[in-house]
Amino acid sequence: TQRFIWPMAQFGQIINMYQRARASSARIFGLMDEPNRVGEEPDAPDLEVTEGRVEYDDVSFGYDEETILEDIDFTVAGGETLALVGPTGAGKSTVLKLLLRMYDVDEGEIRVDGQRIRDVTLRSLRESLGYVSQDTFLFYGSVEENIKYGTFDADREDVIEAAKMAEAHDFITNLPEGYDTEVGERGVKLSGGQRQRLSIARAILKDPDILVLDEATSDVDTETEMLIQRSIDELAEDRTTFAIAHRLSTIKDADQVLVLEGGEIVERGTHDELLANGGLYSHLWGVQAGEIDELPEEFIQRAQR
Ligand code: ADP
Repeated sequence: TQRFIWPMAQFGQIINMYQRARASSARIFGLMDEPNRVGEEPDAPDLEVTEGRVEYDDVSFGYDEETILEDIDFTVAGGETLALVGPTGAGKSTVLKLLLRMYDVDEGEIRVDGQRIRDVTLRSLRESLGYVSQDTFLFYGSVEENIKYGTFDADREDVIEAAKMAEAHDFITNLPEGYDTEVGERGVKLSGGQRQRLSIARAILKDPDILVLDEATSDVDTETEMLIQRSIDELAEDRTTFAIAHRLSTIKDADQVLVLEGGEIVERGTHDELLANGGLYSHLWGVQAGEIDELPEEFIQRAQR
């Protein structure tokens, strides 16, 4: 059977070709502005998640004066999966950072089950969200403490069970001190794939209402990747899920795919609908599947605007 992994190397190349066409002068990262301060009212209520429905209502945002996201408008029904795809720099991570309230929107609103996320306590918002990624933050502490992070009533057995489900137990027991091994900045260095598995274990333990998934091509072997994928799929099932998606299976199974380009939603629909409508998405697919040799001129031109 075919392995439904988005062939990232290839797709990445195509995206790069496409990006090279973007004539805009390279943005050189100098000083980054301080994050907008997020705060809460003293009497803010807790977020109450009932269905897990998330709405972005004409959201615009910039880290500084420059607009990064413009009029982002979509709804994810409770339990559904939304896949975000698009070239690097399109704004996919920024969409997720706004949900986590790492920054506040400049215009528009984000609501969870009808409650504006900036009206509720930050703690309750972040307790409702589980974040899985290779860049998951590990603090200096033991593996066990890192998995437990955000879950207060878990014991060692729960931690081990979650680690087993996340395919992390074996590598953890091979660490010098197993679950007591110190990781994080001054601790044992873990690979991206290992950090990803710790973040999956953390999310399994946390059992969040909403899952936020930043997929990556993991530096793990095929078999481990398939096992990891299975636990992620289980985690995402019947749970509102946002995925920055590279894998074909995530994209194909998503209830909604948003194609972002230059901070705007340029196409939306299911995978099949997007393939049928002959836009950027279908052409990227065509190139990557070897059906067409290169992107048609119109897309290159559009990228150069
Ligand atoms: P993607 O996830 O699609 O690759 P991002 O959301 O990471 O895109 O980035 C969108 C744009 O915002 C890019 O132009 C990026 O350079 C810029 N950007 C991202 N993070 C910051 C930041 N902390 N400060 C300033 N600009 C940023």
